Amino acid sequence: MKYVIILADGMADLPIEALGNRTPLEAAYTPNMDRLALKGRCGLLHTVPAGLHPGSEVANMSVLGYDVARLYQGRGVLEAASMGVDVPTGTVAMRCNLISVSDNNRIENHSAGHISTEEATELIDTLQKELGNDNIKFYPGVSYRNLLLVKGADARVECTPPHDVPGADIDTVLPCAAVADADVFAELLRDLISKSRTILENHPVNVARRKLGKYAANCIWPWSPGYRPAMAPLKEMVPINKGVVISAVDLVFGIGIYAGLATIRVDGATGLYDTNYEGKLQAALKALGDNDTDFVFLHIEASDEAGHEGDAQLKIKTIENLDRMIVGPLAESVACMPEPVRIAILPDHPTPCSIRTHTSDPVPFLIYDPDIEPDQTAVFSEKEAAKGVYGELFGDRFIKIFIT
Ligand SMILES: [Zn+2]
Repeated sequence: MKYVIILADGMADLPIEALGNRTPLEAAYTPNMDRLALKGRCGLLHTVPAGLHPGSEVANMSVLGYDVARLYQGRGVLEAASMGVDVPTGTVAMRCNLISVSDNNRIENHSAGHISTEEATELIDTLQKELGNDNIKFYPGVSYRNLLLVKGADARVECTPPHDVPGADIDTVLPCAAVADADVFAELLRDLISKSRTILENHPVNVARRKLGKYAANCIWPWSPGYRPAMAPLKEMVPINKGVVISAVDLVFGIGIYAGLATIRVDGATGLYDTNYEGKLQAALKALGDNDTDFVFLHIEASDEAGHEGDAQLKIKTIENLDRMIVGPLAESVACMPEPVRIAILPDHPTPCSIRTHTSDPVPFLIYDPDIEPDQTAVFSEKEAAKGVYGELFGDRFIKIFIT
């Protein structure tokens, strides 16, 4: 048996009045997912343990069966893996945003106006030259999303994500120690933030940006500190030989890398509505056709973006695209493969259009293979999956039921 998970980011939702109190998944025309639900089995999965924020990284780790409450170490270390940066034991990795701070000391923009990767790299290189040493290293990433590694630090520092506090006076949201042992590290971070302002304020990149009326990237903002997560390879948890992850999202690649999965980057896979469905589908089919590979984690971002925009019609379109361009052709192709392929479809978390952010509610899932005994579920939806034979699952139950 081979296995493929089609992960539709943020696809689950709440009933919407304008859709006759249906969810986008219920309102969308999805003959392929409905057929798999009819011939397969459904259930609900809890992907966000109590007390954790419903981030995609948390929920995707949960889907793969990892105990997030114990293993989660923040975004920085996942992005580091995706960037190919090794985080040695005892080193703290952090996301290091380039942000814009106004003359009156306020966070003007958490992404420095989505600064280009080229400009950001120049700024990060300068910071590395001026502030980097054997213990402190800055790495350029993509756009405002860069990386800071600090050797021998105590990660128990409370940091505020800059996108959560637009307009805040930065002195009120600076990193602070959660325990006394982390005082030194918190002080170091505050010092780096302060020095970065001096270095970046009149950097030629920022002088040029201001001339064009763009936000200056005049400050760093490190957040989400953590160590290398103690994740066992997925093949030690479930009987697979070789797995791959196909995505456009760094955090998902990072999880895949720590889970011991190979990463496949598809040209034109943007994570947005115009993502390269065809390329992702072909990559998944090629991987499944490879003798060694028996697990594919295919992550599609588009429905989450539509949820964040609060656009129910757009979300319906992303779900219909997924059904028509991924689920249908994938199910048809794998049916002709020599080895049977079991398919699971699920979101990582809901991103309800009415709230425009993630929630922690359980998500619907379906599992199908040619020999599975169907349950009573007739279509794939939040409501119908709740009637599925698997009931409500927690922890690693889903992945262990799916991969046997
Ligand atoms: Zn997500």
